[in-house]
Amino acid sequence: MMIAANWKMYKGPRETREFLGRFTPPDGVDLIICPAYTSLHAAVESGRAVYAQNVHWADEGAYTGEVSAGMLVELGVQGSIVGHSERRQYFGDTDETTAKRAEAALGAGLRVIACVGETEQEREAGETEEVLRRQVAVLPRHERLVIAYEPVWAIGTGKTATTGLCQDAHAFIKSLLHVPVLYGGSVKPDNAAELMALPAVDGALVGGASLDVDSLTAICRAAIPS
Ligand code: PEP
Repeated sequence: MMIAANWKMYKGPRETREFLGRFTPPDGVDLIICPAYTSLHAAVESGRAVYAQNVHWADEGAYTGEVSAGMLVELGVQGSIVGHSERRQYFGDTDETTAKRAEAALGAGLRVIACVGETEQEREAGETEEVLRRQVAVLPRHERLVIAYEPVWAIGTGKTATTGLCQDAHAFIKSLLHVPVLYGGSVKPDNAAELMALPAVDGALVGGASLDVDSLTAICRAAIPS
């Protein structure tokens, strides 16, 4: 089971060191920490697997504010999230830029968690499968690629996909591309076990609940098959 902690724009280096000094993931979980760029070094120093939250597609160039895959590799980072819905919503990422970011990262030897997922409006309009098909179609086929199914309406809202809805979406994604699929969207200690037990769920991408040591520990424990 893979559990990826997406810390978003929380925790600078000091808090990162403090958290990772206190946190010991239980055996049997493939745990990944995804801190902000400025905390990557502190996280790498802890010896944990560390991914960035985003990566640019060019090797280098005049792209103010961006970070390349090569720079992440040099820092000891093992992978990157791409296409998170917050990147798509606030920073103009599209299916095409997500695919370019994924290709560059994979080409540089990084692992990739590519996020897909429908908005509430798209789900209500019955467009979920069409949206997922479109988002998955552009992604590179690669053994180091993992997909995170994150229904946009469930991220940071406290609304979690029902187990049936989650299983169906994961099975659909797996019918398009044979890769591990993580679930993301308000995963908490009290709902992690039932979500992680679904046959088509290979782990979780956790935002808010990954910021607290006890809560992340509980989610990791819940993810271990009994
Ligand atoms: C996320 O950031 O990918 C996420 C799923 O956030 P949350 O767990 O807070 O909904």
